[in-house]
Amino acid sequence: MLDYDLHCHSNISDGTLTPGEVVNRAFERGVKVLALTDHDDTDGLEEARSVALQHGMRFINGVEISVSWRKHTLHIVGLGIDPAYAPLQEGLRLVRSGRGKRAEKMADELARAGIGGVLAGALKHASNPNMIGRTHFARYLVEAGHCKDVKSVFNRYLATGKPGYVPHQWASLADAISWICGSGGVAVLAHPGRYMVGRHSMGKNTMHELLTEFVELGGQALEVVTGSHTPEQYAEFSRYADEFKLLSSCGSDFHGPGESYRDMGRLPDLPLICRPVWQALQ
Ligand code: AMP
Ligand code: MN
Ligand code: MN
Ligand code: MN
Repeated sequence: MLDYDLHCHSNISDGTLTPGEVVNRAFERGVKVLALTDHDDTDGLEEARSVALQHGMRFINGVEISVSWRKHTLHIVGLGIDPAYAPLQEGLRLVRSGRGKRAEKMADELARAGIGGVLAGALKHASNPNMIGRTHFARYLVEAGHCKDVKSVFNRYLATGKPGYVPHQWASLADAISWICGSGGVAVLAHPGRYMVGRHSMGKNTMHELLTEFVELGGQALEVVTGSHTPEQYAEFSRYADEFKLLSSCGSDFHGPGESYRDMGRLPDLPLICRPVWQALQ
């Protein structure tokens, strides 16, 4: 089987490598088909594609859109999108536009918790200030010695309900899917296992309701293999994909060397019952 990685980030959103560096790393680690899926921004695709083509890799245009659904934040990956599609760009611009105010509120909350100067510190870590987000805050808090790593910052300060967490309204599920599908792409529900763990997570009934609505709105795939899933979750979500007649996707969700659940390349194969999403990507 070809080595597919259909979910990763560059410093256009909250990764640490430039788009070209991400592609070089994927190539060195054996990836043959790559999608760059930065959060809410497609500005890295052109550079990534040109570097991928130099290596003879296949490149798929991607994006990962932040969505609010009921009380949950979801991520919808779009694969095979056309970044020139105006409604997609207008939608992404709107999603990004809330990030500045949210970052100010996060800094205020953290100051109240006794940690000052965080906004300026976080901005130093954001190559693309329009995309300022929690990961940039986390990297600064590690740099300033408040926690030992990014994961601990989330657990202590930035996860839902923690002192620096600020609730936020992202895109609607219907809009995100329509921007993706309208541009010729396939909508993928990213890392579903992450919505089912922790204190503010959804149960099985809610996951069923979400998948029902996702399919009704035109969603076509479920991310079964991702860096944050356990092997048990590969099996669990391959059954959901089967039940809801969804295609299955796989990707590392790589953000940077030494920081991610999983590096690029050598992902486990999709379970045999899965129909791979690349069947729908020409
Ligand atoms: P934002 O879109 O600004 O809310 O940031 C979301 C990003 O934070 C995700 O895409 C992940 O990269 C990162 N993230 C979320 N939760 C965690 C966690 N528990 N540990 C490490 N990174 C996380
Ligand atoms: Mn991220
Ligand atoms: Mn995500
Ligand atoms: Mn991601």
